[in-house]
Amino acid sequence: MKYDGFTTRLVHADRLLNRPQNGAVHHPSTNSVLFEYEDIQGLVDVFQGKVAGHAYARQSCGTIAALQTLLTQMEKGVGALTFASGMAAITTTLLTLLKAGDHLVMSQYVFGNTASFKETLEGLGIQVSLVDVTSAEQVEAAILPHTRAVFTETIANPVTQVADLVGIGELCQQRGILFVVDNTMTPAYLFNCSSVKASLIVSSLTKYIAGHGNALGGAVVDTGLFNWQHYPNISETVKPQPPATWGLNQVKKKGLRDMGGCLSADTAHAISVGMETLALRMERACSNAQIVAEFLAQHPKVNAVYFPGLPSHPHYERAKTLFKYPGAILSIDLVDGLDPHQLLNNLSLILNATHLGDTRSLGLPVASTIFYESGAELRQKMGINDSMLRFSLGIEDPDDLLNDFAQALACLS
Ligand SMILES: *Cc1c(COP(=O)(O)O)cnc(C)c1O
Repeated sequence: MKYDGFTTRLVHADRLLNRPQNGAVHHPSTNSVLFEYEDIQGLVDVFQGKVAGHAYARQSCGTIAALQTLLTQMEKGVGALTFASGMAAITTTLLTLLKAGDHLVMSQYVFGNTASFKETLEGLGIQVSLVDVTSAEQVEAAILPHTRAVFTETIANPVTQVADLVGIGELCQQRGILFVVDNTMTPAYLFNCSSVKASLIVSSLTKYIAGHGNALGGAVVDTGLFNWQHYPNISETVKPQPPATWGLNQVKKKGLRDMGGCLSADTAHAISVGMETLALRMERACSNAQIVAEFLAQHPKVNAVYFPGLPSHPHYERAKTLFKYPGAILSIDLVDGLDPHQLLNNLSLILNATHLGDTRSLGLPVASTIFYESGAELRQKMGINDSMLRFSLGIEDPDDLLNDFAQALACLS
């Protein structure tokens, strides 16, 4: 596309690149599961990968293709696949590119369900090492001769550690190791994963990208930076196509087609519409997070604020170099003796709910909910205190958020 502005591209890519019929500005939601060919050779060519087209909606349909175009454009990558959820994107990508006997280096600060998925990988004979990714040296020390991939997030949830993305990217490039970045916390408006040499970008579309709390989805985008010709686990079935397509094609055939965690057309359409305002929502949510973090950091009833936009944060400088803004998630510890549940119940605007990246601000206690199952040992490794509260800031007007926090803290005894 000839336009370079982030939002310009998102708002116009579907119209200009996909040319929907009858002057429509969105590709419509196409709910047909099957696709008819007048000449059967057309279907044969699609099956054999000789011609691009749709055969059955588990693999692709027009609405999904339109969303994939948007995601590819947004990340300036070479291709994208979409899935029923962020977890479907993560599990499908790892299960189809790794096999028994491989080793995976994974951040010790990942999303709770990704951390839990480690057990499934290990059950299938894939060795997983959990590593402190805030240091590329730690990652390097964990690499073994059979290490196939490094998997990390950008800013960790809930303690907001920032991965040494530049160092890990260089390391992976030198060693020819696949570098998979879960960019859910800092979507493309905040951070371009290609700048740190990521091979694949996985995202939960459910969070900031769709943004409105009304659609689940996930994606994997190939940045085009990894040389798939040197990857040992490529199936013979994808090799007739150019090597640049091997990785995503394998995830598509073995993951989407064979495992079936596909997105529905209606949901893809909802996500495409939500995405149009990603930059505007990120501007507001990130600004709200900064304002609220500064307010809470100076409040006498708050003991600690975890937010990479505060100069006291251990990765403040790193976050400043990497990201346009340091995200919109923050966590806090109250002063000893104050009841964190009472604070949440005192808040009237901020919802008691799990989820993040919504238009609405949300809060929850971490150790008793999203990281309850992880157990005390892993929580300690992640830096999660028993009384920690996490907030995901939405796009409300900042004064309303500040007033809500102020009144909720004032009533706390
Ligand atoms: C929410 C989340 C996921 C999972 O996404 P779903 O769409 O809920 O399946 C994965 N990674 C991160 C960092 C997340 O925040």
